[in-house]
Amino acid sequence: MDKKWIDLRSDTVTIPPQEMKETMLHAPLGDDVYGDDPTVNELEAFAAELLGKEAAIFVPSGTFGNQLALLTHTRRGDEVIVAADAHIMYHEVGAAAVIAGVQLRTFDLVDQKRLPVDKIESLIRIDDIHYPETGLICLENALGNGCVVSLEDMKAVREMAIKRDVPVHLDGARIFNASASLGVDVKELTALVDTANVCLSKGLCAPVGSILVGSKTFIDRARKNRKLMGGGMRQAGVVAAPALYALKHMVDRLKDDHDNAKYMAEQLESISGVEILKDRLDISMVFFTLSESVISEQALVDGMFEKGIKISGMEDEEYRFVTHHGVCREDIDQMMKVFKSLI
Ligand SMILES: *Cc1c(COP(=O)(O)O)cnc(C)c1O
Repeated sequence: MDKKWIDLRSDTVTIPPQEMKETMLHAPLGDDVYGDDPTVNELEAFAAELLGKEAAIFVPSGTFGNQLALLTHTRRGDEVIVAADAHIMYHEVGAAAVIAGVQLRTFDLVDQKRLPVDKIESLIRIDDIHYPETGLICLENALGNGCVVSLEDMKAVREMAIKRDVPVHLDGARIFNASASLGVDVKELTALVDTANVCLSKGLCAPVGSILVGSKTFIDRARKNRKLMGGGMRQAGVVAAPALYALKHMVDRLKDDHDNAKYMAEQLESISGVEILKDRLDISMVFFTLSESVISEQALVDGMFEKGIKISGMEDEEYRFVTHHGVCREDIDQMMKVFKSLI
């Protein structure tokens, strides 16, 4: 038995539970490039239904799904409107320039989670010989900063985008965290966009994979582009089976992660020098700052590691601790004990 780590670095570290792993052994398989893998087909049909869209396509990662959406929505040289600190802008290795060959034009979120609809509209290009075409607007929900965007804001962008005839893609890597936090069916979120990408390998615990959903015509075109991008997988049922299990059995428990994050934030707050970023506590992520005089970053990361707790160092001066299926209340209490012993 491996040593039990408490890993607070991300929800991507989740290990598939035993029952999920077992689905891999018994999944009926075929060649998915021929459309012959029954398990992939079942996953795609189930995901389309669950997310309220006509069709779905299984892809290797969230980055792949987003970039496939960009490639399929746009033409080379188009402009894509996206938030300045969005994953598509910030954390996808500049792929938009390489794969779709588009240029990104950014807006800033207001109060870290409000969508500035007028600003976004003003970024849509008018017809002018000098200008690129605006090919797509990208939103993100839940946001990587721990916030959830309201349905009202998404609706306002939706109505504007329809009026201006620009499609909208949602980076819904954590869309189920967003719907749990808002207390709405996930379909209410997907109804406000043309396409959405959903990560199965984060809080939902699948080993790999994301799902891109949209209209049947869009997904048919995306299927060909997925092949172009090298994402045509053969007996992909071995990974589609745990992904299907994730959608069926792991969605409802995400609210436990959110509750645990709030619990952890309360505990951390008792340490003097810790400043919890409370207005960003919508999902499973706790962001905080910690004064260097209490403990240095290196001493905290190393000290925790020595006691079996993995955390990331600061990004933009902030620590981020993430709860997930592998983190229970006792783990949080244990982390707190170690934290206090280090300072
Ligand atoms: C994780 C994440 C992705 C995609 O991540 P992969 O690691 O490529 O699966 C996309 N968008 C957001 C907001 C994410 O958090």
